[in-house]
Amino acid sequence: MYKTMAINAGSSSLKWKCYEMPEEKVIASGIVERIGLKESLFSIDYNEGQAFNMVINIDTHEVAVEMLLEQLIDLAIIEDYSEITGVGHRVAAGGESFADSVLITEGDLKEIERLAELAPLHNPANAMGIRAFKQVLPDIASVAVFDTSFHQTMAKEQYLYSIPIEYYEKHHARRYGYHGTSHKYVSQRAAEILNKPVEKLKLISCHLGNGASVCAVEGGKSVVTSMGFTPMAGLTMGTRSGDIDVSLLPYLMEKENISDLNDMMTILNKESGLKGLSGFSSDMRDLFEQEEENERATLALRIFEDRVKKYIGAYAATMNGVDAIIFTAGIGENAIQTRHNIISGLGFLNVVIDADENNCRGIEKRISAKESGVDVLLIPTDEELMIARDIERLR
Ligand code: ADP
Repeated sequence: MYKTMAINAGSSSLKWKCYEMPEEKVIASGIVERIGLKESLFSIDYNEGQAFNMVINIDTHEVAVEMLLEQLIDLAIIEDYSEITGVGHRVAAGGESFADSVLITEGDLKEIERLAELAPLHNPANAMGIRAFKQVLPDIASVAVFDTSFHQTMAKEQYLYSIPIEYYEKHHARRYGYHGTSHKYVSQRAAEILNKPVEKLKLISCHLGNGASVCAVEGGKSVVTSMGFTPMAGLTMGTRSGDIDVSLLPYLMEKENISDLNDMMTILNKESGLKGLSGFSSDMRDLFEQEEENERATLALRIFEDRVKKYIGAYAATMNGVDAIIFTAGIGENAIQTRHNIISGLGFLNVVIDADENNCRGIEKRISAKESGVDVLLIPTDEELMIARDIERLR
């Protein structure tokens, strides 16, 4: 028995899960928050129900990693560091350089840092996490798993924007897509649930969380996805606008006296989506709470559903058919009404929801009616498990 660790490092946080392999059993998980700030929060869940929490100043990711590894031993989760055979890191942007996960070399790490131009908030933090673990556990397999890799199968027709093609040739300006690890996981699970080879299936995966994207998966490969050059594009999200007419930018900058394009981008990234529409919250649960009495909350909910529905329709057209539609992530797994409203508007695709089956949260199940021509599946995503599996495959 040996252990692997799946890591998701943010600019001030480090989320992790420790697996016993090859059983794929989660034996501990945790999060370090407020790294670099005062009173960082350090917590571990382990032994199926036990918790360890601490508030302490943690200045760097490296210190967070050192503390975490020490606690794994103190809490007897592992006996010795030699039990850990690999550490896998979620990395946001792999650009055109990484069509698959990699065993990270120094060159890869430099490339991940260079690709910060695609994901300025995420890649530097991901790289920091990688360096921190390499520093503390230098001899252990270190794997990078990219949110973009799964979408590298997109054809030029799908990933090119209709702008002068030199911008793609010179600057790699194209659609990359994100949430690839999640779309890949749920499409593999869908094939298992449907008991059909993934190569034979046309799937539409709806990853609906704070960040949200839809992906058309044909024969197990991403055909197209709604996020673009960055995660800004596509659906209405918690705080991101999703698709808009770019001509709005200069128009609004003039009307609102915004002189810096970065400020405008911040509004589109952080103040738009459900938050901007409702005027009070990016969280679906808050919107449901006020649905009855607050018109803006209702409007935000209906717009969210409409955009998902439109992408499903579009992607069914792209693949000339669809065998199953999958819902996953916070909203997809939990928002019963949202799933119901989206599917109810897709009768023309011969898809029918079963209201009773749909009345559930966070479990893997089929929620379409028996007579539905398209299966609808609820599949909780598991990106960390995909990371653990990639460590196994590559180490
Ligand atoms: P991310 O990982 O992108 O931050 P999540 O996948 O955790 O996001 O999804 C967060 C979203 O899921 C929020 O909008 C939240 O309101 C929604 N959500 C979580 N639980 C429920 C629930 N019980 N009902 C409706 N929405 C929910």
